[in-house]
Amino acid sequence: MDRTSTPAVELDGVTRRYGETTAVGDLSLSIQDGEFFTLVGPSGCGKTTTLRLIAGFEDPTQGGIRFGGESVTGVPPEDRDVGVVFQNYALFPHMSVGENVGYGLSFTDPPGGGSDEARVRELLELVDLGEMADRDPDTLSGGQQQRVAMARALAPGPDVLLLDEPMSALDAKLRERLRVQVREIQQELGITTIYVTHDQEEALAVSDHVAVMHDGTPEQVAPPRTIYREPATEFVATFVGDNNVLSGEVTAVRSTDDADDNGDGSEQSIADVTVDDATFSVALNGDSDPTAAVSSGDRLTFCVRPERLAVDADRNALTATVTSAEFLGETTRVHLDWEGRELLLRTEDPPTGTVTVGFAPTDAHIVDRQP
Ligand code: ATP
Repeated sequence: MDRTSTPAVELDGVTRRYGETTAVGDLSLSIQDGEFFTLVGPSGCGKTTTLRLIAGFEDPTQGGIRFGGESVTGVPPEDRDVGVVFQNYALFPHMSVGENVGYGLSFTDPPGGGSDEARVRELLELVDLGEMADRDPDTLSGGQQQRVAMARALAPGPDVLLLDEPMSALDAKLRERLRVQVREIQQELGITTIYVTHDQEEALAVSDHVAVMHDGTPEQVAPPRTIYREPATEFVATFVGDNNVLSGEVTAVRSTDDADDNGDGSEQSIADVTVDDATFSVALNGDSDPTAAVSSGDRLTFCVRPERLAVDADRNALTATVTSAEFLGETTRVHLDWEGRELLLRTEDPPTGTVTVGFAPTDAHIVDRQP
């Protein structure tokens, strides 16, 4: 993936309104050639509309869309070189599996020459259904049908593959297996793929870049690790995985090389943030906003992942009451009450009753600053 080359797909200030509803508002995205790019967000945030705009099933009310630097305004879906797999991937029941895949070739010649039959065989092998060409679709499992739909979309050799919640009808275990297969196929072909899901875990698991959408706009576009470790906003921090969010007033900003504060003895800027009667030391994120100019009197909102809270830690310690616990196998998610706030702890060894938990200043991540 070359981030300096012309993006495979670009959205430039795209807005799509339906009457009073703004489904997508002033959306700009750059999707590089060969990347797996995921749009994730809650129901109604504009994911499907964005995909339909890229496919050409909808026109933007404002803004432009480019493929490989060329505007596709007014270009109908069938001339956009996109393959689409929808949520409801509806295979043709009266055609065999092979004929379904071949249908993707009805309006075009197979890419790279060769016969339609050879192309169908090649694709069915790609999706691991080489033996199933003569079967009726309704004799296949949901996961197998989904792979046939993907093979059908890939048959004409599209430049871009669009997947709209393709696994939402399948059970959790199967989704996990299939997302790995989809990622493997995408990497084998090197095809630019735009994937829509409301499942944040799925988004983190398969993507090169994730756009976390909220109310028709992305709140953050970044690689999965950055989304998880350095969420740009409180919405991203709480939508993607569990998080503890605290807000308070900055009472001091200081620089420290105290190993107790940052663990490795390197210099670190710290804000002391008072939340009710407690004061927490929070490492400033560095050069990136919103922390660049933190000063006393500011209101800071920061978050700490439940797995970063440590039982019996003495830094940034608070004493809370365990209200419930969910056994999740490898870890337990423990619900805590601290001064009327619900906090979450993830641990292999769940405490009961009253517990003291703390966190390192560098495990706190600032998501908002109000001067
Ligand atoms: P979901 O995960 O539930 O599928 P989504 O993030 O894909 O949601 P969209 O389907 O893009 O969301 O819809 C975004 C908003 O635009 C919603 O408020 C929806 O009701 C509205 N909307 C979408 N299509 C239309 C339409 N054809 N006419 C009117 N409103 C629409």
